[in-house]
Amino acid sequence: MDYTHNTHNSVPYDYEDIDRSLMEALWDEGCDLFINEPLSVHVNFRLGGRVKLFVIPNSLDGFLNTLRLLRERNIEYRIIGRGTNILPSDDHKSYTVVSTERIDKVEYSNGYVYSTAGVPFKKFCLIAMENGLSGMERAYGLPGSVGGAIYMNAGCYGWETSENIIEIDVFDGRKVFTISNFEAQFAYRTSLFKKERNLTIVGARFRLFQGDKEQIRTLMLDTMKKRYEKQPLEYPSAGSVFKRPRPDFYVGTAIESLGLKGYSIGGAQVSERHAGFIINKGNAKASDVFELIDLIKSKVRQTYQVDLETEIEIWK
Ligand SMILES: Cc1cc2nc3c(=O)[nH]c(=O)nc-3n(C[C@H](O)[C@H](O)[C@H](O)COP(=O)(O)OP(=O)(O)OC[C@H]3O[C@@H](n4cnc5c(N)ncnc54)[C@H](O)[C@@H]3O)c2cc1C
Repeated sequence: MDYTHNTHNSVPYDYEDIDRSLMEALWDEGCDLFINEPLSVHVNFRLGGRVKLFVIPNSLDGFLNTLRLLRERNIEYRIIGRGTNILPSDDHKSYTVVSTERIDKVEYSNGYVYSTAGVPFKKFCLIAMENGLSGMERAYGLPGSVGGAIYMNAGCYGWETSENIIEIDVFDGRKVFTISNFEAQFAYRTSLFKKERNLTIVGARFRLFQGDKEQIRTLMLDTMKKRYEKQPLEYPSAGSVFKRPRPDFYVGTAIESLGLKGYSIGGAQVSERHAGFIINKGNAKASDVFELIDLIKSKVRQTYQVDLETEIEIWK
């Protein structure tokens, strides 16, 4: 597949525009820096414009000091986990993006598992299984990072991230402190972190339960099978596009009933496998996806008098 046109050939920011003293400070923190970085290589949707500066810290201290430095200098930034829930617009972005991908440590003691934010969720589930710990069986196959799952209280097959969280370490730009599950204000596909953008998830303590390793593995594989049978995992996407507006309203079924399954705009298509997903057939622009979203919303409103809200995070 050719995704190259999404990244635009010309680079939008002059290398001289980047504050040299900031770059040196970030190098001192052990970060890897990428200027004019295409977001399309960092998001699962494989589309979107470039960002002026993309920072990959290589240690937890480096990560926290990066955020401190950006705050001190009033530089706008966003956090990216594994980019599986982000739809970035096609235009270039002057803000900085900081990745948690190398902040990936899991520690296990006495039934509690501590995971830093950048750990891939699948890896977290596999470590739990290897240690004979039950609780993550229905979560297996959830793409993305632990931080991303906490941010949006990701859920599947009747399970939600919040169920297993005891407490969360949070960074407010100056210090790290711990908040309880209750304080994180978890609800359907949301948490405190969606409202308080200045709070960054550093890591979390999970409660898991002793179980039988082979039984856990079997249940995990069952969950994964359900995913690849029902979801278009072979195509780039950001998962289900819309939140379920109420428990008895199935968005995918509604979209299918409107004859939109398989409908395309440009390179974006309502998945033939699961109408709740919009996929990138290889050359989609974010604008194609936005148009499809608007079309679905308006048809669903007309027919069902229901206002759909997006579950995916749109980065303008
Ligand atoms: C094929 C597919 C299937 C999916 N299935 C499901 C599913 O079953 N259930 C479900 O709920 N979701 C699903 N998703 C959506 C997505 O995988 C989850 O929302 C996932 O938890 C996002 O994690 P991430 O690391 O990729 O977050 P990202 O996409 O990187 O970021 C999402 C948001 O979280 C914020 N964020 C990330 N890390 C932090 C942090 N440490 N501190 C503060 N903010 C942070 C980002 O700023 C951004 O706003 C699916 C996606 C795909 C592509």
